[in-house]
Amino acid sequence: MQNPDPDWNRRRFLQGTFLASGAVVASTSETVAASAANDQQPEIVDTVDVLVVGGGTAGTVAAIQAGRLGAKTLLIERGSQLGGTMTTGGVAFPGLFDAWGKQIIAGIGWELVKESVEMDDGTFPNFAKVPQRHWQNQVFTNQFLYAILAEEKCAQAGVAIAYYEFPRSVTRVDQGWQVDCVGFGTSRRVFCRQIIDCTGGAEVVGLLGLPRLREDERQPGSFLYMLGEAHEPGRNQIHRLYVHGADSTNSRTATQANLAGRKSILAKVREEKKRLMHLQPETGFRESYRIEGETIVTVQDYTSGRFFDDAISYAFYPVDLHTREGVKPEPLKPGTLPTIPLRALIPKGSRDLIVAGRCVSSDRLANSGLRVQAPCMGMGQAAGVAAALAAKSGKTPLEVPLGEIRERLREHGQIVPERA
Ligand SMILES: Cc1cc2nc3c(=O)[nH]c(=O)nc-3n(C[C@H](O)[C@H](O)[C@H](O)COP(=O)(O)OP(=O)(O)OC[C@H]3O[C@@H](n4cnc5c(N)ncnc54)[C@H](O)[C@@H]3O)c2cc1C
Repeated sequence: MQNPDPDWNRRRFLQGTFLASGAVVASTSETVAASAANDQQPEIVDTVDVLVVGGGTAGTVAAIQAGRLGAKTLLIERGSQLGGTMTTGGVAFPGLFDAWGKQIIAGIGWELVKESVEMDDGTFPNFAKVPQRHWQNQVFTNQFLYAILAEEKCAQAGVAIAYYEFPRSVTRVDQGWQVDCVGFGTSRRVFCRQIIDCTGGAEVVGLLGLPRLREDERQPGSFLYMLGEAHEPGRNQIHRLYVHGADSTNSRTATQANLAGRKSILAKVREEKKRLMHLQPETGFRESYRIEGETIVTVQDYTSGRFFDDAISYAFYPVDLHTREGVKPEPLKPGTLPTIPLRALIPKGSRDLIVAGRCVSSDRLANSGLRVQAPCMGMGQAAGVAAALAAKSGKTPLEVPLGEIRERLREHGQIVPERA
């Protein structure tokens, strides 16, 4: 469904906004993280309604949703493809779209997963059946097809994609943001009404100096790889190797994780004398920063299946904390169905900014269940709706009537939580 809102004269609206602000740092008193380089002439200047930063599990869905609602949307991704942990990290078994015998998360994320599986002649779990082990209902997806289909859907929704770029500074301007981005050989200045931060570790929130939470010792990351017999045709089993201390905070710590992970895999290849059949290009990071939002989802909220008044997505997964000793998933009690509130996507005290994905405002244990892919996609879709409607109406996402957000989510195929 594309541009169902033809009356939205956003171009005129935004031009008015930014021309009025002189398309420069209009309100220097509100400048939060401007860099000296702001004064340099950027190569490219874009004016959009919604800027999505991070084209991973949540961000891809957020961008497609904003585009489908007619918002002029730009997606900035520092890597080379869409999908994030799901594709570049190789965690191509998203879960969980179902709970207790029925589907609980659908929408754009499900549409992408479904098409990738169908095109690949793959199989789906039977959501009508409650599995013995939670992972049995994860959906095995072709990561390569997923990444390409995501690009196709972005193009169809009118979403522009900029790979190899990331924001260097974010500055408040009249009724929106100036975001200065760099890539190799590229500098870009983006004026936007709304930002959706889907970087996994809430990097835009960090650039703005807003509060974030992080554990001293985080869950290990994992490198995904596959060993086989010498020159034997590929086997299906994907292996994971813990990278303890993996830290996605910056390029230096991420480099360390990649070096340590690949070194361990090389040792394994030598030890097992098998052929290295497959290796993802980088470490998958389970945990880094979480935002401190307008509300924080606690593990009690999560395990009791609390229904939040402003719930915008369901979530379902065991509490799943990986440590040096491994992982012992703690399944939810029968019938428990957690929800995710909109306020957990809003950095405390912010305007015109929303996050989606594993950085959702939550305590560590709640986050260990909320961080999985289907809820990330559910949050992404809700953030896409909230940001698009906020850009249209000149409001901040929390001021958009909740009923309108939910209505649009339903129209776009999402399952909206309802009080039992
Ligand atoms: C090893 C491992 C196993 C897992 N197992 C499962 C499982 O079995 N089932 C399941 O459902 N989930 C699983 N998860 C969890 C799940 O995959 C992730 O929590 C989820 O994909 C995170 O989604 P996200 O959108 O928040 O972040 P990501 O998918 O990581 O996307 C973030 C994106 O932002 C980009 N980015 C980051 N910073 C910037 C920046 N400054 N500028 C521009 N772009 C930026 C990144 O390149 C990336 O593309 C696992 C995770 C790991 C690591």
